[in-house]
Amino acid sequence: MTMINGNDETWRELADIPADPPKMRDNCSQCRRPVKVCWCPGLPKFRLAPESRIIILQHPAEIKRCLRTAPMLTLALQQDKCLTFRGKKFPSSKHDGLTDILNDKNTILLYPSANAIDINELPKVGTNGQESYNLVLLDGTWPQAKAIYHSSLSLGFLKSCKLVGVPTSKYVIRTQPTEGCLSTLESAAFSLSILEDKPHLTDAILGPLDYLCRFQLEHGAVEHQSKEFLVRQETHPKLIGKRLAKQLRLNVK
Ligand SMILES: [Zn+2]
Repeated sequence: MTMINGNDETWRELADIPADPPKMRDNCSQCRRPVKVCWCPGLPKFRLAPESRIIILQHPAEIKRCLRTAPMLTLALQQDKCLTFRGKKFPSSKHDGLTDILNDKNTILLYPSANAIDINELPKVGTNGQESYNLVLLDGTWPQAKAIYHSSLSLGFLKSCKLVGVPTSKYVIRTQPTEGCLSTLESAAFSLSILEDKPHLTDAILGPLDYLCRFQLEHGAVEHQSKEFLVRQETHPKLIGKRLAKQLRLNVK
């Protein structure tokens, strides 16, 4: 077709076509992220099927953050091995099936409450008749996770555990609020491999995050150190408010 003699109407229509293709076409159909920052090549070849299940209780604001790790977990595990419930308070009537899960004797919560025990002290799946776990994770920023915990009475009744002695977050693209603060994906990866005594699970689950971090570092993203580290080094004291700086210094000393 030649357009040399096209009438005004045709030209106007052509002029109205946006220079950039519609946004959706640039997004990966699986992770829904822009193709340039898609982490799908890091996913395990086959979805993993650990014996235990991950139960994600997700703060609604978490969905809007641009760098999230819960979707990596969802896509790395078989569908029935990772359930997500959204809200600020759990369980509510819209959380189908969650009450039963929270009442299950094999349900544990990863949260550093006052009586949380080292996750390594929990019996491994398959030893001494230990059945598979339902591991509950709170997905959001640290203040959001804390708010969920304190407004959800039933979480306080769960056996709670914490990760002890795990490496600093590999999630170097985003500044972590404190040293030892892990993303949802990292928390799940370390916890599952400990609970099931399957060390290979860690790397397999962390695949997409490793891929993304490597890609972003290669393409110029700055490797952030945690705010706590920066304060200790006093290299960027202006990044945080005076009150937080004071609090962190007190904690360090
Ligand atoms: Zn993708």
